[in-house]
Amino acid sequence: MTHSQAARDIDTSRPHSARMYDYYLGGKDHFEIDKQAAERVAEVYPAIFVCARENRAFMHRATRVLAREHGIRQWLDIGTGIPTEPNLHQVAQSVVSDARVVYADNDPLVLKYAERLMRSSPEGRTTYIEADVNDPRTLLNAPELAEVLDLNRPVALSLNALMHFVTDAQDPYGIVRRLLDVLPSGSALALSHCTPDFDPATWQKVTDIYTSAGTPVRFRSQEDVARFFDGLDLLDPGVTVGHRWRPDATEGDVPTDAEVSLWTGVGIKP
Ligand code: SAH
Repeated sequence: MTHSQAARDIDTSRPHSARMYDYYLGGKDHFEIDKQAAERVAEVYPAIFVCARENRAFMHRATRVLAREHGIRQWLDIGTGIPTEPNLHQVAQSVVSDARVVYADNDPLVLKYAERLMRSSPEGRTTYIEADVNDPRTLLNAPELAEVLDLNRPVALSLNALMHFVTDAQDPYGIVRRLLDVLPSGSALALSHCTPDFDPATWQKVTDIYTSAGTPVRFRSQEDVARFFDGLDLLDPGVTVGHRWRPDATEGDVPTDAEVSLWTGVGIKP
């Protein structure tokens, strides 16, 4: 799809999760309707900005740990979001300059900005696929994926703040299983997922706002998030609140678990 086609497909009549998330992160790539919906979320859950920031910080740390300690050189990042510096490939290539990253998202607005995800190091490589995680076969069969990833070597599957947009009826565990099935031993799953565990009443309101904006969501418990790692060797400290997953030396205020409200984890395929 060309960029002008993507521009025509961008629906500004309703809020989009990618553009709301861009607002939470302080970006500029959203429309008024997204800002209004994001502010409705912030009214009931003022720490949404902390959650978004900690989610991004988890992605940075998990990427570095996989590159430094687990020999990962390739990533498949689904639900990439609107580019936000540093993007995953920039984090990975700062550790291993020849890292290869395939990005995928189903929002045409992300496609519009995908060129920002293509600024790879000369030694490495990145590409972008417009694809829906609910159709893993099409995503995995995309010719661009085969051009960038060698599926005979370990790949880290990165699903950050994505799976809560996949409802139970859409078979979230089956989807993750099908994606991991094609990856060899030594591959990884890095996942973050919003949770109602620390404040169910607030998260019910957040659920209602997303649902009424046309985006069904299913925020999950720690136990339900842990199920995504079934069959994998979970790295320490297990499925934990985002800011507690291998934190860097902390400076300033440490957020509360309720503020972060995000389960995170990294597992390795045996
Ligand atoms: N992974 C990034 C962005 C998270 S925002 C981060 O953690 O910082 C969630 C992203 O998932 C949005 O860009 C949204 O467009 C995308 N998304 C939602 N449902 C999707 C689906 N079914 N298939 C692919 N991407 C999806």
